Amino acid sequence: MPPLSPGAIKSGGMAAALQIGMTSGMQRVSQAMPRFRYSAKHGDLIGAHLSTKGGLHTVFERASAVNASAIALFAKNSNQWKGKELTDDDCALFAKMRTVRPVFTHASYLINLATTNPEFHRKSIAAMIDELDRAERLGAAAVVLHPGAHMGAGVSAGIDQIARSLDQIHASLPDHRVVTLLETSAGQGSCVGCSFEELGQIINLVDERRRVGVCFDTCHVFASGYDLRSSDAYERAVEQLDAAVGVRNVGLFHLNDSKKPLGSRVDRHEHIGDGQLGLEAFRLLLNDQRFRGIPKLLETPKKIEHESDRRNLRTLRSLLAA
Ligand SMILES: [Zn+2]
Repeated sequence: MPPLSPGAIKSGGMAAALQIGMTSGMQRVSQAMPRFRYSAKHGDLIGAHLSTKGGLHTVFERASAVNASAIALFAKNSNQWKGKELTDDDCALFAKMRTVRPVFTHASYLINLATTNPEFHRKSIAAMIDELDRAERLGAAAVVLHPGAHMGAGVSAGIDQIARSLDQIHASLPDHRVVTLLETSAGQGSCVGCSFEELGQIINLVDERRRVGVCFDTCHVFASGYDLRSSDAYERAVEQLDAAVGVRNVGLFHLNDSKKPLGSRVDRHEHIGDGQLGLEAFRLLLNDQRFRGIPKLLETPKKIEHESDRRNLRTLRSLLAA
């Protein structure tokens, strides 16, 4: 679980969960109870993935500079297997400078739990254990992970191997609270997780399901073929998500517009409102009560540091109903 107090979950979450569940009875209510909701005291929970150039703790200066109330960061270099050691002093400084409660890390791009190469698989397991350990020590809520690519072995072999790998990772970190959020993929190459069903299957196969959830990336979801541009299309997509994964298992959103069209299976992020998704999709998502209290983060290109994030965050906030 992310660092939420049970009280925060109850006070922030109960009303919406009941609303969702009301039509179909009590069992639906418990299913609809969000697992990852933050209370309103943490702000509007809209933010961005930010640079840590100059040290992990400097991320909070950037968070204030762009006015982000939730953030993501790389806890180590995302293109290397081994990162610089994270010392207790680094963690203490991070905690001291911390101004934002919802903090997420993004795992290295090298990790592929579905790989058919035994050496890469071994390295991927070790690297993911390290990512979770860093996140735990930094007090992050979750590590976002791309589920992986099956490299020709087939989707169901990939799904199986990802679930078994997560079991192995969890077993080696029995006391950790931090969770893994499997990110929706755009469907490029042999990537696993481009449909809500695939993500649901992985979660269902994991032994300790409380340690996994989903990160919903608007660009990836759109590129993989889910339309979000009208209220009917958006509603259909969320219904499919709920049926396959459960909306309660969504722990984070990546809000990116898409350079490429619906179903292109190409992952190219664009500034909010400048891409093929358009503003309406973001307006629908930001005002969806089912996702109230779930952090929503930009991963849009930064032409000029701060300027691009500020503009995109302003655009998102302008879409929030008053
Ligand atoms: Zn993303």
